[in-house]
Amino acid sequence: MPPLIFRKGLNLKHEVAHVLAESYHSDLVTRIKDDGYRYESGRLTVHLAREFGFCYGVDRAVDYAYQARRKFGDRQVFLTGEIIHNPHVNEQLRAQGIRFLSDPGETMDALSPADVVILPAFGISIELLEQLQDRGCDLVDTTCGSVLNVWKNVKRYADDGFTSIIHGKYWHEETRATASQARRGGTLRPGSGQDGHYLVVLDKTEAAQVCDYIRRPHDSDASAPSTALRAGRRAAFMTVFEHAVSAGFDPDVHLERVGCANQTTMLSSESLEIGEMFRAAMRERYGDAELASRFRAFDTICSATQDRQDAVIALLAEQPLDLMLVIGGYNSSNTFNLARICAESLPTFHIAEPAALISATEIRHRPVGSTQETTVGRWLPDGPVRIGLTSGASTPDNLVDQVIGRLDALANP
Ligand code: SF4
Repeated sequence: MPPLIFRKGLNLKHEVAHVLAESYHSDLVTRIKDDGYRYESGRLTVHLAREFGFCYGVDRAVDYAYQARRKFGDRQVFLTGEIIHNPHVNEQLRAQGIRFLSDPGETMDALSPADVVILPAFGISIELLEQLQDRGCDLVDTTCGSVLNVWKNVKRYADDGFTSIIHGKYWHEETRATASQARRGGTLRPGSGQDGHYLVVLDKTEAAQVCDYIRRPHDSDASAPSTALRAGRRAAFMTVFEHAVSAGFDPDVHLERVGCANQTTMLSSESLEIGEMFRAAMRERYGDAELASRFRAFDTICSATQDRQDAVIALLAEQPLDLMLVIGGYNSSNTFNLARICAESLPTFHIAEPAALISATEIRHRPVGSTQETTVGRWLPDGPVRIGLTSGASTPDNLVDQVIGRLDALANP
């Protein structure tokens, strides 16, 4: 029998609902929402953002993983890696007996048709999917619909001969998967027989470098010194973007038609600005008349990311706060961007777990802009204290609950 791919769950939603509730739900958080997203105790006031925590894609992925474990109780069930970027959730899945192919000692080579593999919410690359299909495993695909929407757009770009400019992190699983779609999409272009191309830009600084390259014509002067200059410029460009472009990418050729897209969890305002930067560069280089045939853009930030960013911006505008706590895995892109927004206005602590609140005088967090976790003192002010709280799309409510409990204990000993 050919391998099966389950994309709509396994009809066991009700059977696993109680386990999910026990593992991730919080009565306290529900009560705080009912009380206007405000928690007061002694000298402590906590204001919750109006949108935070598990998004629809994560909810669904975790649900399907539990359904898969239950349905295939007599088979080995694997995840390709983290199902979402939250250490607590991944540990819970390990406790259910789900194995991670990314763990030391695990290998794809050992997979057989008897095994089941769950694909994460942020999707996997086409190459990895093909490897799993070659092994004959049954698959439970939890790729989020919002990620599929990005894939649809970049495939269309490639089909039409456009290079995908992806605002994202080239090393992030979702962006790697999206890039693979952009590349393979090109092979569908009638008569082309060629791969499509992509370029990943991390931020406005990198986008400005690419826009600068687009603006300055490279091929109008064929004199020898100019040719040498061109080659040097091209080499410098490729050094910067070495890991962020498709195989065979040539900036002198593959920036002539570009389509913008983004990793779903980037900072929305920055993605929009980057799109406009490319639009302006293409207009400057080719003129208004050619813009429509050379530039396209789709905002592919997902609505859950947008809602969480909007909610934290509203919280910062509406409530006088002493500090912000942002809860979520350090490798969670959407959590990082929530912390970035907050850090522009207030002392902000991005913490990965409740235990990071070590004491009233010590907190373990990762400062915005740093790659290292650090422990600092004197974070909790004396006297009445107002704390804003939000959490990333991969953080369950029970962790928010524990953080509030810990805050209460530290503020009101
Ligand atoms: S963050 Fe957005 S794209 Fe990612 S799983 Fe959640 S809803 Fe889907």
